[in-house]
Amino acid sequence: MSQERTQSFGKSLFLGDLREELIFPFPQPHSAEQKKLTALLDEVRKLAKRTIDPRRIDAEAHIPDEVLAGLRELGIFGLLTQPQLGGAGFSLSATARVIDLLGSFDSSVAMLVAVHLGFAVLAIQHFGTLEQRQRYLPRLSKGHSIGAFAVAEPLAGSDSAAIRTRAEPCPGGYRLTGTKIWVQNGELADVLIVFAQTVVHRDGADLDRITAFLVETGPGVIVGKSEPKLGQRGSSTPALYLEDVFVPADRVLGSVGGGFKVAMETRQLGRLLASAACIGTTCELLRHQVQQVTSRRQFGRVIGTLGMIKDQVARTAVDLYASESTLYLTMGLHDLAHRRKELLLDNSLEAAVSKVLAAETVHDAAVAAMRLAGATGLLDSSPYERLLRDSQTYLVFPGTHEVLRAYIALSGMREPGEQVGRLSDVLKRPLRGYGMVVDSLIEKMRTAAYGRAMLTRHHPQLKREAVLIEDATEAFAKEVDRVVRRHGQLLPEMQYVQKRVADVAIDLFAMCACVSRASLVLTERDARHAKGRAGHSEAAGQIDTAERQLRLCAAFCGKAARRIEQTLQRFGQNDDELMKTIADDCYLDQPYPFDALLVRGTEPNA
Ligand SMILES: Cc1cc2nc3c(=O)[nH]c(=O)nc-3n(C[C@H](O)[C@H](O)[C@H](O)COP(=O)(O)OP(=O)(O)OC[C@H]3O[C@@H](n4cnc5c(N)ncnc54)[C@H](O)[C@@H]3O)c2cc1C
Repeated sequence: MSQERTQSFGKSLFLGDLREELIFPFPQPHSAEQKKLTALLDEVRKLAKRTIDPRRIDAEAHIPDEVLAGLRELGIFGLLTQPQLGGAGFSLSATARVIDLLGSFDSSVAMLVAVHLGFAVLAIQHFGTLEQRQRYLPRLSKGHSIGAFAVAEPLAGSDSAAIRTRAEPCPGGYRLTGTKIWVQNGELADVLIVFAQTVVHRDGADLDRITAFLVETGPGVIVGKSEPKLGQRGSSTPALYLEDVFVPADRVLGSVGGGFKVAMETRQLGRLLASAACIGTTCELLRHQVQQVTSRRQFGRVIGTLGMIKDQVARTAVDLYASESTLYLTMGLHDLAHRRKELLLDNSLEAAVSKVLAAETVHDAAVAAMRLAGATGLLDSSPYERLLRDSQTYLVFPGTHEVLRAYIALSGMREPGEQVGRLSDVLKRPLRGYGMVVDSLIEKMRTAAYGRAMLTRHHPQLKREAVLIEDATEAFAKEVDRVVRRHGQLLPEMQYVQKRVADVAIDLFAMCACVSRASLVLTERDARHAKGRAGHSEAAGQIDTAERQLRLCAAFCGKAARRIEQTLQRFGQNDDELMKTIADDCYLDQPYPFDALLVRGTEPNA
């Protein structure tokens, strides 16, 4: 059976292609949605100012009922659901913008909504039967029920396939037994998407395969106590004990044995909404940084006038711009994939890139904010230590960054690997593979004749950045090709290589996102100029927003291009083997058995 090929902008970079038609123009909500969104954001802002007190939420490790009631009233729990099932029918991008705003007030509140929508509502929307959607979505959308997603177990964290919770068939359904941990929203949720091993019969054998179940709280579902944790303390993450819980057969979500796909695809969307929360928190951190450095005086001057201080603030702004552009470009690609299924868009790599960038940006911004606040940053009464704790949590859920980097590298290298494999296979049988060899030669001739992939849809003021992208794409694809040919099937075990490949892919995709976004803003400014409506903001004493974005885009592209160049150099020249040996030494011996003052085996002053 021939499988239809999916397309992905991110994965095409690994082949040296720039599928610019997928990323230009930078996606924007349509005007009707934009209007509704603007009005809703105003309401959410008012609610948050009135009811969200992040210090209290952190201290009491609890989100007050008043906040939940307000979110319910504004329809936040139903943003993604179709109106006929009780929701607002917003796009993923518009929904993310709301979570982004909530993230600027409090990470726990933002993540409560992100998990409910991204992990529960979307899972049911994408994988549920009509009956399941009609049964669960109206109450989840009104916020009368809260949703949760339970995969992790004591012995299965990043490795979801290792779960041990079992679902045994019984008359009318299944009986579930097992322990889940870290169930976000677990104390509030009454609709849980639970993953368990089931026996399926394939090719004459009985195999364990994961199935997703819609489980309602009730007999046998025991919710543990949420353990106090470092950050995002307001969000409950208890264990869940399933003791012979009966689940009717019609509550299987997706197919029996198809739960791994449900888990992976749902995580991808949940990851995007969690990234939106990171963006909002980073905006808040930048605000704190600016407030601090423009008010604190040392050595007779405001510290914000000093170069080393400016550098930290500017870095936060640049990285925020890049991670926000990457996230909203990816959101736009998801919305496009949803609207135009025939395009067969696969945005899994872009979603992983968005999460890594957004969570690392918020974490770096929190570290910088704390440094800029000096000793004040260490006080319990200051917001900095809470924001740092909250930001650390984003690095683990949803998805740790080592695992996401491995995913980015390996999924991106699959196609180049297959091409090399196919080519070497057909070269062994030249006549049978004639078409393939010819295709490959044509591709090589095309590249030789027309040169490398080019960007043509960017704004002319971004010519330098476009060239940086073209150079980096060409160099990256050559390195990927070399790595794939050289290491082939060993690559899944080569994590130093995976990290380098992922780091380049992340920077490269983010550069493209910045150029696409800045191009849109510059083009719109040109249109205003053409209509004679330019210069209003300058006249009002404001900096032109297009110029500001141009600067942010230029700064990110310049820095990212230099990082890419350095990373590519390290493919050939690195200390990987030395570092592996040092780690092995630590594992074999006492981790650090040295004493700097006892080198010659004598006591000092003996
Ligand atoms: C606040 C919070 C909310 C959560 N909410 C939920 C939820 O709602 N539902 C749910 O099911 N789970 C949830 N989790 C669990 C979360 O998904 C896991 O914590 C996460 O997948 C990592 O698993 P682990 O903690 O067991 O770490 P491990 O998987 O044990 O990882 C430990 C370290 O090893 C690294 N590592 C692991 N495998 C690899 C690899 N192949 N290559 C390189 N490095 C690797 C990791 O990156 C990490 O640094 C939540 C966790 C947190 C902190």
